[in-house]
Amino acid sequence: MSLIVQKFGGSSVANAECIRRVAGIIAETYQAGNEVVVILSAQGDTTDELIAKAKEINPRPSKRELDMLMATGEQMSISLMAMCLAGMGISAVSLAGWQIGMKTNSHYGSARIERVTGERIKKELSRNRVVLVAGFQGVNPSGDITTLGRGGSDTSAVAIAAALHANKCQIYTDVDGVYTADPRKVPGARKLDEITYEEMLELASLGAQVLHNRSVEMAKKYHVQLEVLSSFKQLPGTLVKEVTKQVEQIEITGIAKDTETALFALVGLQDEPGKAFRVFRLLSNAKVNVDVILQSIGRGSIKDISFTVPKCDTEKTLAALQEHKAALGFDRIDVDTTVAKVSIVGAGMVSTPGVAAKMFEALADAKININMISTSEINISVLVNAEQADRAMNAIHDKFFGEQ
Ligand code: ADP
Ligand code: ASP
Ligand code: MG
Repeated sequence: MSLIVQKFGGSSVANAECIRRVAGIIAETYQAGNEVVVILSAQGDTTDELIAKAKEINPRPSKRELDMLMATGEQMSISLMAMCLAGMGISAVSLAGWQIGMKTNSHYGSARIERVTGERIKKELSRNRVVLVAGFQGVNPSGDITTLGRGGSDTSAVAIAAALHANKCQIYTDVDGVYTADPRKVPGARKLDEITYEEMLELASLGAQVLHNRSVEMAKKYHVQLEVLSSFKQLPGTLVKEVTKQVEQIEITGIAKDTETALFALVGLQDEPGKAFRVFRLLSNAKVNVDVILQSIGRGSIKDISFTVPKCDTEKTLAALQEHKAALGFDRIDVDTTVAKVSIVGAGMVSTPGVAAKMFEALADAKININMISTSEINISVLVNAEQADRAMNAIHDKFFGEQ
């Protein structure tokens, strides 16, 4: 007998028909003699709708209350699924995050998992029940409900799989695996049979929302092999694991796009030691996560510093900088929220010359201007106009993987 953890995303449980389809997958796994723990997301766009409801009442709702509200979405899904399975004669129980001991810190809206006690899950499994757990939610040391950040149900699933030493962790979604690029934006994208944790983490962190980046981080840490597969079609999925059996080193593994980014430029800063330190210390104190940074060479005693931050931190960043304008001494701040970061990822790029040139050539041929460039050992990112981002991904994809 194996212990199998299965997670189903929002579109997989969007309506009654989808719930029945998923119940069929769960039932098949259970009737094959396995212990089954299922993590569910809220149905379809429920989380977005709950946020909109909150903002209708108060444009700046408290994070605690927003978590309380958002957590109801996942609870709807698990109770409906329990009812569906009961109708099929399968004994199942739905449990909220606090009931399974999903202990988190108190950062409402982006809480970190500290521990999963899992005793209640084990007890229910020993009674031969299918256990249905609400994803995305936990409980903080004061006993209040927290959520893990958008897309966080993947992380709930991996944390539970790790805590229970599950034999399998299957992430069911609306695509049949991890592709070389988002198949909805890049029609020529190819499905990968396998991908390493390292590359998947990079793709997820750079905008490929097929897996929550923290779920990949946790899977790598606790050696949980993930399988990404479709809840709509019975097809082999993609394995996310430590090493892949790649015969030939390929240049890049995939391409990702992140539109949740804002570009700031501090124009006319005095060119003197400690300036960059003061700007970024200020942002660090304001808890703003800065991503790409570019400093101009300077004109005489004047220079500019540009950087990107998550789009949701635009107001906070602007307020912090404006408040300290006199002390920092700059002429003006330019803010652009119509940018996107397009990145290529691949462990092979360290040992292959010309990868950057190939990416830039694809963009040049497509007449797409690059605003900023940043690189690491396994990725190259460029900042482009958001409207051109899909075209940029397709051009780069064609260049590296050939036109379909
Ligand atoms: P779920 O609701 O199941 O968690 P998500 O919407 O969070 O599903 O993630 C699945 C989506 O991720 C797909 O519909 C696809 O558009 C998108 N996606 C982005 N990049 C990739 C990629 N490289 N491979 C597969 N899907 C991707
Ligand atoms: N329902 C949550 C969201 O939409 C969590 C998830 O689906 O993973 O972000
Ligand atoms: Mg998701």
